[in-house]
Amino acid sequence: MPLDLPTLFVVATCITALLGLFLLALWIQDRSIRALGWWAAAYLIGGFAVALWIVTPQAVPSGIGETANALLFISCGMIWSGARKFHGREVLPLAAATGAFVWLLASQLPVVAEWNGGRVVLSSLIITVYAVLTAMELRRERRNPKLARWRAIIVPLLHGAVFLSPALTAYFMPDPLPGLGRGWFAMFALLILLYVVGTAFIVMVMAKEHSALVHKTAAMTDYMTGLYNRRGFLETAQKLIDTQHRKGESVTVLMFDLDHFKSINDRFGHDVGDDALRTFAATAASSMRGDDIVGRLGGEEFAAILPGGADTAVMVAERVRAAFETAGVTISGHCMNATVSIGAAEAVAGTIDITALLTRADRALYEAKSSGRNRVMTEAGRGPRVRPVPVVAAPQLVPQAMPDLSFARQAGVAVS
Ligand code: GH3
Ligand code: MG
Ligand code: MG
Repeated sequence: MPLDLPTLFVVATCITALLGLFLLALWIQDRSIRALGWWAAAYLIGGFAVALWIVTPQAVPSGIGETANALLFISCGMIWSGARKFHGREVLPLAAATGAFVWLLASQLPVVAEWNGGRVVLSSLIITVYAVLTAMELRRERRNPKLARWRAIIVPLLHGAVFLSPALTAYFMPDPLPGLGRGWFAMFALLILLYVVGTAFIVMVMAKEHSALVHKTAAMTDYMTGLYNRRGFLETAQKLIDTQHRKGESVTVLMFDLDHFKSINDRFGHDVGDDALRTFAATAASSMRGDDIVGRLGGEEFAAILPGGADTAVMVAERVRAAFETAGVTISGHCMNATVSIGAAEAVAGTIDITALLTRADRALYEAKSSGRNRVMTEAGRGPRVRPVPVVAAPQLVPQAMPDLSFARQAGVAVS
């Protein structure tokens, strides 16, 4: 099928520019995904570069204007920069512009200018480097690990193959048959067009998924403490229960309630009360392990779910209690001696749902309150068997066992 080059270039310009405008509209809608801005600009510059090809008298590789090509390489560098930005990595402007510089310098060299396929080889090498770099950035998307592993190998190879093909052809067939160069270049241009549309499609899907994830994460997060909120806690706790159920193991729920919190508010004011809540959240999160889940159910009530039986969980609870006893002596410069009471309830996963388990832990909490506060109680009415060494170091204010907001933060999305 004969492919008409000028028509192909016009189509390429229109499609690239349209995709650029579409990405721009997406970015205006959701400015938090700054990568969209980079991609939109890259597509618009790329479209402009192809438009320059059209107005260049000889629209064949050897006749493409230096400026048009340099712009095209800048746009490739910007697509790569957008992919870096998307994953919260630093943009490297110099590296993004290197392709254009290399082109402008090298195309002046006699060896490149005189060799029939020199410009083709150089262009395709530059595009290949950026395409592979972009593919390697995009493969950082790890939400589907099985797929990602294959994609990690196949995608960069595919990109390399597509963009290296003109270089190889020019190298091995330095003097192609008359007409072949043009037909082959049209085919290559078509491939690039498909690649441009495909990449735009991928980045749009990624941006949409990212947006949905950020909103979901925000909906599951307690804005004040950064811990899971009730909804986030219940959802994540149920997942842990399901995992433990598959293994035939137990889970233990801890219910925390700050002691005499009303009086803290009354004595020091609501804002200092909020600081006490944040201090407790940070203390609890930093005193637990990575696979323990902790959330704020509301007011001054928090809950945690831990894989395993009550014995270990009670030890953890005691660690939190002791750490908060230390951290609660002075909060925001006020001597308040804040403490927490904790109730624990264990069950073999799958035999009871999270709400019922919370109710049981709440009953144990009531026992802890009525027997004097600032203590840990199980349903059987016992505290920790072994008193762990008290935590004396002041806990950090940055919780560690928080919901995974890194994805949202990487893209510069404010999730509080
Ligand atoms: P107990 O030891 O029996 O738990 O006594 P308490 O005073 O802690 O219990 P109570 O349930 O009577 O009081 C809870 C208080 O928590 C009442 C409410 O004003 C306060 N509170 C709830 N949510 C917030 C919040 O977001 N910030 C602040 N500062 N206070 C809150
Ligand atoms: Mg309460
Ligand atoms: Mg209370």
